[in-house]
Amino acid sequence: MWKQLIMTAGVGVLLFQGQTASADNMSPQDLVHTEQSLEQTKQRVKDTKQSIHAIETKLGQIDRRAEVLREKVEDISKKLEEMENELVPTEQSFLARVVSSVLPSAKAEAAEAEEAHQELVEKKKQENDTLKQLKEEQEQIESTRQDVKRSHDEKSKQYQKQANQLSDLKKQYEAMAPARFLMPAEGRLSQGFGPASGQFGYTFHNGIDIAAKTGTPIYAAESGKVTKVGSSGPYGNHVQIEHNVDGQKWTTVYAHLHKVDTKKGETVRQGESIGQLGNTGNSSGPHLHFEIHKGDYNFSATSAGNAINPMKVAERLGGASPVKSTF
Ligand SMILES: [Zn+2]
Repeated sequence: MWKQLIMTAGVGVLLFQGQTASADNMSPQDLVHTEQSLEQTKQRVKDTKQSIHAIETKLGQIDRRAEVLREKVEDISKKLEEMENELVPTEQSFLARVVSSVLPSAKAEAAEAEEAHQELVEKKKQENDTLKQLKEEQEQIESTRQDVKRSHDEKSKQYQKQANQLSDLKKQYEAMAPARFLMPAEGRLSQGFGPASGQFGYTFHNGIDIAAKTGTPIYAAESGKVTKVGSSGPYGNHVQIEHNVDGQKWTTVYAHLHKVDTKKGETVRQGESIGQLGNTGNSSGPHLHFEIHKGDYNFSATSAGNAINPMKVAERLGGASPVKSTF
């Protein structure tokens, strides 16, 4: 019954904290689905980023081509203007023909002038054709540029949307995953998750310490299988439990126990007692050292590694847990 209470209270907390509406319809598959869409969205964001880059490269090429065209058009227009000045006016050419009918030397000169005139006319025609072609290309390139620019704007919008989705999914995922675990003991938080002084041989504390009286019951944070029971080393008497939550493997660690009430290979239910809080191993007073790993147990003395801050669990479930946390 308490588990139901927790779920209800958990959802209440989620809603109260202004989470997305999907938290309202949490199903056991949600975690897996969220993880899958997270991966897919990540890939989509990557793809969109790549196509935006390709579009920007294309835009650059188009702009360079447009600049070359603009220069060419200017050049040809100038040339045409010059030709215009060189061309012999028709009346002048007519006069030359009249004179040439009288004077033979003028005749030859007129023929030459006529030939030069024709050449210029021909050249002018060619240049005009080139100009026309260039202007057509310019128009085409301008329209391509507009298309590309439009697709760039669309992709950018899409990218922004996907990036927002990704960030929402990440928040949702982070909010959902640890909500599956219970705080394993009642007590006072004596050391949090995060960077540590290094005086005990580690510069990152990848769990939390819950201080309480020796003998305080320790509960399994989630249903699972006991994969390790140890009695020596820095952890002293300790238990490791492997959990499968919607296909995702998680491992929890309970250290410095006074007494262990379970054994390797045993299946435990969430909230079931697995031992008593104590002061064994590297410990300077009775407390529980509790770790949550996403995946297999994995120790790092210098970083979080795959460990998750269990305080997120306490914040989420609070007083709804059968284990009343006082932190
Ligand atoms: Zn600790």
